[in-house]
Amino acid sequence: MERFLDYFVPEKYILDLGINKFDKKIGGVVEIAGEAKEEVIKLHAVGFEVKQVFVDDKEVKFEMKDDVLILFDVPVGKISITISYLGNLNENMEGAYLSTYDNDGEKEIIVATQFESHYARQAFPCVDEPAAKAEFSLKLVVPEVEDELVLANTPIANTKKYFKVPDGKYTVFYNDEGKKISAKYIEYTFEDTPRMSTYLLAWVIGRLHGKTITNQHGIEITTYCALNQDIACVDFANEIAARSLEFYDDNFGIPYPLKKLDQVALPDFEAGAMENWGLVTYRESMLLASPDATLGAKKSVALTVAHELSHQWFGDLVTMEWWDDLWLNESFASVMEYYAVDAIHPEYKIFESFFTGDCCSALIRDAYTGVQSVHQDVHDPEEIATLFDGAIVYAKGARLMLMLIRLMGWEEFCKGLVDYFKEHAYKNTKGDDLWRALEPYAEFKPGELMHAFIDKPGYPVVTNLEGEFEAFDQQRFLLDGPCVDDGWPLPEILEDMSGHYILNLTDEEFEARLDGFDKLGLEEKLRLLIDRDLICRAGMQSPAGLVGLARKFKTESSAAVWNKVATLIGNLKVFVDDESEEEKSLKKYVLDLVDEKLSEIGMKTGANDDENIIRLRANLMALDYYAEDEDRFRELVMMYDDDYTKMDAEIRSDILAAKVYLEPGFASECVEKYQEINDPDVKFDYLAAACLVRDEKALSKLLALLGENEIVKPQDQLYLFIWLYRNPKSRIQVFDWLVNNWDLVKKIGGDKSLVSYPTVLAHLARTEEEYTKYRELFEPMLDNPSLKRAVEIGLNEIKARVALVAKYRDEVAKAL
Ligand SMILES: [Zn+2]
Repeated sequence: MERFLDYFVPEKYILDLGINKFDKKIGGVVEIAGEAKEEVIKLHAVGFEVKQVFVDDKEVKFEMKDDVLILFDVPVGKISITISYLGNLNENMEGAYLSTYDNDGEKEIIVATQFESHYARQAFPCVDEPAAKAEFSLKLVVPEVEDELVLANTPIANTKKYFKVPDGKYTVFYNDEGKKISAKYIEYTFEDTPRMSTYLLAWVIGRLHGKTITNQHGIEITTYCALNQDIACVDFANEIAARSLEFYDDNFGIPYPLKKLDQVALPDFEAGAMENWGLVTYRESMLLASPDATLGAKKSVALTVAHELSHQWFGDLVTMEWWDDLWLNESFASVMEYYAVDAIHPEYKIFESFFTGDCCSALIRDAYTGVQSVHQDVHDPEEIATLFDGAIVYAKGARLMLMLIRLMGWEEFCKGLVDYFKEHAYKNTKGDDLWRALEPYAEFKPGELMHAFIDKPGYPVVTNLEGEFEAFDQQRFLLDGPCVDDGWPLPEILEDMSGHYILNLTDEEFEARLDGFDKLGLEEKLRLLIDRDLICRAGMQSPAGLVGLARKFKTESSAAVWNKVATLIGNLKVFVDDESEEEKSLKKYVLDLVDEKLSEIGMKTGANDDENIIRLRANLMALDYYAEDEDRFRELVMMYDDDYTKMDAEIRSDILAAKVYLEPGFASECVEKYQEINDPDVKFDYLAAACLVRDEKALSKLLALLGENEIVKPQDQLYLFIWLYRNPKSRIQVFDWLVNNWDLVKKIGGDKSLVSYPTVLAHLARTEEEYTKYRELFEPMLDNPSLKRAVEIGLNEIKARVALVAKYRDEVAKAL
């Protein structure tokens, strides 16, 4: 793929930009000092009206073509390019974009940025490639708005007030009639950034409130949120940020490289969070936690903050050379978040979530033909967005890093990291640079092991040949076809959760472990269930066997084990049709499974409940909901309170679900609550509960919200879609809606959320009819590089599930 860095190497950008959020415009003058390698150079530039280009003091000829600004007759050597341009602010959560919220009936507008992966080019002309590191001197001129904050990567160096727009370069502030839009303007000049990639530059302009704390190493941390959010919601994130930076300072050998850290919860945000250096941005639900937030909400905020802050070193200070090594950023951050949170809150037992969550999603995704490898070549800019496959680049990569860290030992691993950061600070790297840095501290060659797992997709299923895995056979494990011959270097077969492989136990081996289940370590217990689940999904063992297996855990007390029992049940659900006799049997079976334990621990959160009990209850209650346990539903409904702060937060979603079940009319009230309430978790609980309704009239009102951005924000539309698709009473209509509204869906979110539609549909579809509809909708999109892979895997996935159901449906029915 053509790299613009080959024509021009930027060293410093001086950005002098006017931003007019009222007319949705951005523009001004960009000065780039650097070295021209050719006489014709190219800059990334999307959707701009370029007015003039000077190189040094001479005006040059230019052309805007296919999102590229081409400059002609440029002198080779050190030059300074000056470009005046005008562009637009976006509304699709990419580039420099507008985010809005309602503050007591007043509409507030925020201007924020999302430049990863290649959207800086939508805000200003630049060489928008990760290896094109440069310093940024940023000046923003904005209309004066009372109490507005203007934030960027570095602290403000100075501000100036103007009573009129200074000169001709800020054309963004004049309307079509040549009139200024405001009487007063403020100019914010920020301190120069260190050398960094364009995708990490950021700013946020808007009315926000925040709280500042200073951590033990003297770094000022401020967490901001919209004015309609309770300011107490930032305390938890501030605390996690303070402790995470200390943890990384202590382990990475280089102290946090910037003067301050800001974190901002944005009302509109496509992904979960973005690690802009010194100015990290988040989806509100990923940063804000009220003092009485659920344990689950706190854990996910803690993990997200720890993830983004590890990127301040791994990603920001040292950056991958090109997007094919995106995993270098994400696999690292996705495992480091667990180490940091485990150090800060050991009582969370956060690694249990890693094993039951990330590890399992990686094992499933990685078992389909066509899945990407962790390290993935990029041939087309459109492919960059598809690289962010959460189950592979994040989860599988993290699992592989965990394997490596456990083999080396944490202390030795960190010694290598310290060397790596010192050698490559402010520069770019490839995977091999990391392996080289770690090698002196390992008793094996980290590069050899990791290349074998990172450069190709899949993982082995290991079959015991000679007792206790002293001699074994391995093949690539697949869920959409028979296993195929392949091999990976496997140091030693451990039965804990360290290695990215699964064990194909014989019935005798499996029974032996099951008999001694209580004596196994927790990770061994989880592996036993996880591997068995996968073997059954692949049809290598009959899924009917899961009926007897799950029953053995009725008296189990570990939340993590119950989490996997719920996975086994989920696996059985695909074999029964909605409202069939078999489904009734399965529901009865599930009720019998959970009844005893749930009666023992009770539905209400107790004052002395530890973290395990709280999670255990959540798992049991979810199964109990599936079982349509009306007796318990009636008890739950009694606990409903119109004032959500008065409900038991940990079981709030269960209370709402029960109420919708018994009183379908409550679903519309839930939608109203979703609109009224600002707390992101509570909002979500209400909307999710509404989507469970089975009443036809109530459902049609919810279906009407799809694509209706005024009621359900674009960032939440994908969730609405998934929840309604999961509801057996609306899944057909939801699919048909997608077929008829694909063009609308494309406009709602950015590239990353678009690719989620074919992916999540494939996870849930299981009938021949759904396969046909899926193929008809998505097959014509196979020539779109940003969707191709997701669609191919989706087709394989559904086809395999349809075949599995056909093969084992009767056996499962009999077992039930
Ligand atoms: Zn990340």
